[in-house]
Amino acid sequence: MRHQYHPLGFEGSRIAQGFWRLQEWNMTSEETLGFIQACLDLGVTTLDHADIYGGYQCEALFGKALKLQPALRDKMEIVTKCGILLPSESRPDIQVHRYDYRAEHILASVDKSLANLQCEYIDTLLLHRPSPLMDADEVAQAFDLLFTLGKVKYFGVSNFTPRQFDLLQSRLDAPLITNQVELSPLALQHFEDGTLDHLQQHAVTPMAWSPFAGGELFSGSSEKAKRVQTILNDLAQEKNCEMDQIVVAWLLRHPAGICPVMGSGKVARLAAAVDGMSISLSDDDWFRIWIASQGQPVP
Ligand code: NAP
Repeated sequence: MRHQYHPLGFEGSRIAQGFWRLQEWNMTSEETLGFIQACLDLGVTTLDHADIYGGYQCEALFGKALKLQPALRDKMEIVTKCGILLPSESRPDIQVHRYDYRAEHILASVDKSLANLQCEYIDTLLLHRPSPLMDADEVAQAFDLLFTLGKVKYFGVSNFTPRQFDLLQSRLDAPLITNQVELSPLALQHFEDGTLDHLQQHAVTPMAWSPFAGGELFSGSSEKAKRVQTILNDLAQEKNCEMDQIVVAWLLRHPAGICPVMGSGKVARLAAAVDGMSISLSDDDWFRIWIASQGQPVP
């Protein structure tokens, strides 16, 4: 009989911090530790990684910082991902940029993440992107083993369609706790393609990657970006706050309970985002942003 792993929903902070860009921040281990501490002080305890970030370097940079103060480990929830094979300098063994969800790869990837992060366990492991070759039964066996060994507490997916999510869920005893997908005022696709409806139906928390469209929301020069910037700027003036805070409020206003994964390495920006959680947007405000992004009135 399969082991029953924790049948609970998403256990994490209302907004999360991502470490995809950690290598670009050029921080010393002490500075990275300071940044991690600042996240925790702000109540942002869910910290998002992936094995491949920074060409397989970011988890280790984080781990080196955490080693300076290991007691912080239990004050955070570490999310990491596996499944993408990325040819890079540090992985000359990888020839083709592709996906791998064989049990052997999942297990080896988790061991590597644990070693790099200098942790005993991962809170949540996500399958990074769907693969046509994913065998859900084999993934389920790997998840069972990882849970039984105490290496991973919860499991989820990223960039999965509702059907792909359901297929994997059908082979698992415990609920997948998230589907991390791209959501921002410049990326409306998953608001409309059933992804958010499906997660809401199953009471699964969506995590939003690139909630500021990777910075495009503020610096983008496309017609769409400019339309959205105009509305964000108007709303920020009306509410006497910053444009990025309006975006956080806009994502949190959605009834699916979206958890945005913030991407800046600047504490001030994360602090502003946390403050943005208390801004309330009227439905008029929310739709002004929606309509600006769509470039046309709703039908
Ligand atoms: P983001 O918050 O949309 O973008 C961050 C970028 O925007 C940074 O370069 C940042 O620059 C810039 N920025 C933030 N606030 C700004 C402002 N007010 N004005 C101008 N620029 C601003 O998030 P992201 O980094 O693209 O993604 C966030 C996290 O999502 C990642 O760290 C990763 O954990 C996760 N992710 C997951 C997937 C997936 O497939 N599951 C894919 C992509 C990302 P500064 O650093 O200078 O502030």
